[in-house]
Amino acid sequence: MQPVLSIQGISKKYGSIQALNNVSFDVPQGCVFGILGPNGSGKTTMLSIILDILQANSGNYAWFGKPGSPETRKQIGSLLETPNFYHYLSAVDNLNITKAISGRGDAADIDRVLEIVKLSARKKSKFKTYSLGMKQRLAIGAALLGNPEVLVFDEPTNGLDPVGIAEIRELIKQLAREGKTIIMASHLLDEVEKVCTHVAILKKGTLLTAGKVDEVLANEDIVEVSATDTAKLKLVLEGFKGYSHVKQDGKLFELYF
Ligand code: ADP
Repeated sequence: MQPVLSIQGISKKYGSIQALNNVSFDVPQGCVFGILGPNGSGKTTMLSIILDILQANSGNYAWFGKPGSPETRKQIGSLLETPNFYHYLSAVDNLNITKAISGRGDAADIDRVLEIVKLSARKKSKFKTYSLGMKQRLAIGAALLGNPEVLVFDEPTNGLDPVGIAEIRELIKQLAREGKTIIMASHLLDEVEKVCTHVAILKKGTLLTAGKVDEVLANEDIVEVSATDTAKLKLVLEGFKGYSHVKQDGKLFELYF
């Protein structure tokens, strides 16, 4: 099956900073694809390029087998940073404004989207009364206007408390069950294990590995000693060679070397 997104040899420099260096990978249809890496590894730069916000210095990418165009862009909903919602307006009013500005969705879409992000009961409340988690769910709701097939999220759980994080992760899984393809950047190792089916791991702008999460984790070339899955990813990400752990007084101490 044709990949939803195919990225080939993308490089990007900001002055002398090489933010991305010849990165290539494919995103299969219907997956939750994590772009994983520590801060500064090039995740936001990659998302900005595939959304036509930034221009790469070299390389190319194709959505649904075609170079990016206004038509293909309509099939992609995105959340790169929290939108500037109006604090004294309700969720419904804010989404109506987003709909008018973006040209995505119709009147029925507002209620559909609020239902998906579980804000129907509070849809008339002012935005300023929302918790951080509710604000983030509304932002995801805005990305869902027009019912796009693909969703691109940058660090969707950033800054949320554990309940908010769990709600967003459940929402992402629900969207995947409905057949959406989700591409999300994250610097959290356990996010990938809990949410993603596929992963591309970036380090300082270079792709370390990409593929199905379980295959990446099972790659014994990556790991020299037995390790928990999270520890394996930490090894890949941070360039450690080995892992071990000890339990002392009921506490787990993880050792990387
Ligand atoms: P991530 O999303 O993984 O944190 P970014 O894509 O934001 O990584 O950044 C990759 C690298 O590019 C970092 O070294 C960052 O400092 C640099 N960078 C990002 N945006 C700019 C910019 N507008 N101007 C200069 N350097 C930038």
